[in-house]
Amino acid sequence: MAKDPRTKEYLLLSDFDQTLSFNDSGIVLSESIGVEGFPERIHGLSEIHLVQQGGELSYLLLHDPEYRRVRREHLVEAGKQIRLKENIKLLSELLQDIEGHRFSFYVVSAAPQEVIQSALEGVIPADHIHGTRFRYDPETGEIASIINVNAGYGKVAVLDQLRESLAIAQDRVVYVGDGSSDVHVMLHVNRLEGLTIAVSENKYITQIARRTILSDDALSVLVPILEEIVGWNPARIHAFFEAHGFLLRDWERVRTDLVTICRATEPEVEQVMTAAQAPPG
Ligand SMILES: [Mg+2]
Repeated sequence: MAKDPRTKEYLLLSDFDQTLSFNDSGIVLSESIGVEGFPERIHGLSEIHLVQQGGELSYLLLHDPEYRRVRREHLVEAGKQIRLKENIKLLSELLQDIEGHRFSFYVVSAAPQEVIQSALEGVIPADHIHGTRFRYDPETGEIASIINVNAGYGKVAVLDQLRESLAIAQDRVVYVGDGSSDVHVMLHVNRLEGLTIAVSENKYITQIARRTILSDDALSVLVPILEEIVGWNPARIHAFFEAHGFLLRDWERVRTDLVTICRATEPEVEQVMTAAQAPPG
């Protein structure tokens, strides 16, 4: 397809676990090979900050005796069991041309490449997926080492490399994510003046992302994109969804202020009162 020079090229980079799916790959994999206590193992690992947030599964696959028996085919099988959000394929098709804006859709994730590729087979091309890669022992098929983990700062590296190879301007990047593994890359995209979208209520992420959208349908990320980038008003956005056979129901705009209230001690009350009475400046 010849490129129309008037088309505005964007990069849309999305996390996988709980952004395009409903459950972490690690949970699905652990269930499918019959290993219990995955959340506890992850919790223990993340407490000590030995690996980047999101990279815990890769660490377990390499170092935990119970996960040593995992082979490539187990990862592919786990991918088939992952429940995906609705309409990911349609999302990537619609992103090809929205009134002269084209968004190249890529996935970056700490989840194993084989898991994501298998889960998104026929939905997202394999070369648009940047997951964690392993080297396998040619004799035993065991995971011998990790080539790269796309968690935390690893995601920033993937983003920069993609932006460069696709020749996309730094402010024409959209990043979609749900968890603490996305913090670095979201801060990076904000700094470049791109658009960051949170798809969960994770407080680390919602405080950083420019927009938050909660939905079981992947098409929902179009709402902030159409508003912030394409510049449409809500009426136009409703019409766009309807034209594709969808209704945007219960579209509520909520700004959440999180606050904890507890009893103040007397000196604290005094301090607040003095501050309130002080002249401004
Ligand atoms: Mg995630």
